[in-house]
Amino acid sequence: MNLYDAHAHLQDAELVPHYARVFCDLAAVGVKRVVTNGSSEADWPAVAALAAEHPVVLPSFGLHPWDAGNRSPAWQENLLAHLDAHPGAAVGEIGLDRWILTRAKPGDPRLAGLRRAPIEEQTEVFLWQFALAAERNLPSTIHCVDAHGLLHDLLRAAKRPARGFLLHSYGGSTEMVASLAKLGAYFSFNANFLDARRARLREVYATVPADRLLVETDAPSIRPPAAQEEFTLPATADGRHVNHPANLTATYAALADLRGTTVEALTPQVEKNFLRLFGS
Ligand SMILES: [Zn+2]
Repeated sequence: MNLYDAHAHLQDAELVPHYARVFCDLAAVGVKRVVTNGSSEADWPAVAALAAEHPVVLPSFGLHPWDAGNRSPAWQENLLAHLDAHPGAAVGEIGLDRWILTRAKPGDPRLAGLRRAPIEEQTEVFLWQFALAAERNLPSTIHCVDAHGLLHDLLRAAKRPARGFLLHSYGGSTEMVASLAKLGAYFSFNANFLDARRARLREVYATVPADRLLVETDAPSIRPPAAQEEFTLPATADGRHVNHPANLTATYAALADLRGTTVEALTPQVEKNFLRLFGS
């Protein structure tokens, strides 16, 4: 079976010690492409290096809203240089995140040392990158937390890529799905929605049009619940869990279940959707 991971961060340090095993397992379960998102200027070179070594890696370069506040004065030239050097690369991970400004716990280690850009600044950084994707008709990946109303307004007003764009791990309302799909959105499901506390968010994916569905791991983040975790990796030295990207199989299975279909029927549909948006 041909599986496609629409959103991961294979360049992340947590996975580096396990590359031999990870790439072997990905091939064994039939994963054909993994969109590997750079999220800051610091990790774009690692994404490029990994793509050069592993054809399964589809490189993507973008400035994530968490990293927007720490961008260098040359970030735009730097991004353009990476995209020019990698024809077929995507733009991402880009987006909007109000959670870091209003709901994140003060000591969250993932945010340590980051200057958190206010939402107006995040908007400016997002719109510049989205305009670039529109102008070049590149695939792009949008992260959105606690800002779906604003994102919807911005997308409606913006020039959008003719090929569409991905709302990764979409956590907005069911009511917005049809309108976002009309604007060109694809929606990717991940193991975050397998948690029992996220049943309401999970149900949204039963309503996404079949031709706009994608599947992702967000690895090394978001391990599936233990009962569904087929591939395990050791935790990091400081005790953080690491999601093995081959757990994509569990996410396909859960999505098929949610949609009342089989993995065999879902897989070719997701393949078509992936190739339409990200190209081959
Ligand atoms: Zn991500």
